[in-house]
Amino acid sequence: SALLEVTDLFKTYGTGEAATRVLRGLSLRLDTGEMAALLGPSGSGKSTLLTILGTLMKPTSGSYVMLGEDMISADDRALTEFRNAHIGFVFQFHNLLPDFTALENVIFPTAVREGRETPAARARGRDLLSRMGLADRIEFPSANLSGGQKQRVAVARALMNSPELVLADEPTGNLDRDSANQVMDLIGQINREEGTAFLISTHDEKIAGFCRRQIVVGDGVVTG
Ligand code: ADP
Ligand code: ADP
Repeated sequence: SALLEVTDLFKTYGTGEAATRVLRGLSLRLDTGEMAALLGPSGSGKSTLLTILGTLMKPTSGSYVMLGEDMISADDRALTEFRNAHIGFVFQFHNLLPDFTALENVIFPTAVREGRETPAARARGRDLLSRMGLADRIEFPSANLSGGQKQRVAVARALMNSPELVLADEPTGNLDRDSANQVMDLIGQINREEGTAFLISTHDEKIAGFCRRQIVVGDGVVTG
């Protein structure tokens, strides 16, 4: 069944002579539990699309429905609530708090939102870190982790609230080949075990090869 569907998306940055038309009528459907790569050269609009799908920015025009809800007409407050409940994010630069442990980093956003840190959240955080191969790094300050380990903490953090969708923008862009493969393997495992859908942007065909589906963008539309 459809997790999300965008139709005829347009996104233009700036106006007049400075206008950059990035998305030009892009349509895409993502099903529940899909594991998809978003491929395309640098500047092709992958980040723009992920930002729109993440409800962090509205398109210039077009429709977007996720889990049966209209993401275009929703106001900021409704979108924040929707996002917190249903969407996780992983970025190229993990944005971990260096003095916080791996576990603290994973549960921090949830604790801030709920105004407290519950035993259930700690248990969920520990479980996710173990499943990301970090059982022996749970209490390490994140500054002392390797790049690959930090990115696995960021994936665990994105999964805290059991989102239906995780959007990952070049999550392995900063990693060596072995670390990148390991991150993708573990993401695939979570996708199979939890049924979380992943949309992972990359310009690396080898990384895309870890995904069952490849979505290619070019000239502001899906070309393959
Ligand atoms: P990708 O992720 O595929 O590299 P982006 O979505 O980051 O592509 O960028 C697509 C195009 O939009 C690029 O030409 C970029 O310079 C431009 N762009 C992205 N964000 C902005 C912005 N906030 N303001 C103006 N132009 C932008
Ligand atoms: P990965 O394959 O996950 O990227 P590495 O091979 O880079 O891991 O790192 C191996 C070990 O070295 C890890 O257990 C990690 O904790 C440790 N390590 C890597 N970078 C640092 C650092 N800057 N400070 C402390 N320990 C580090």
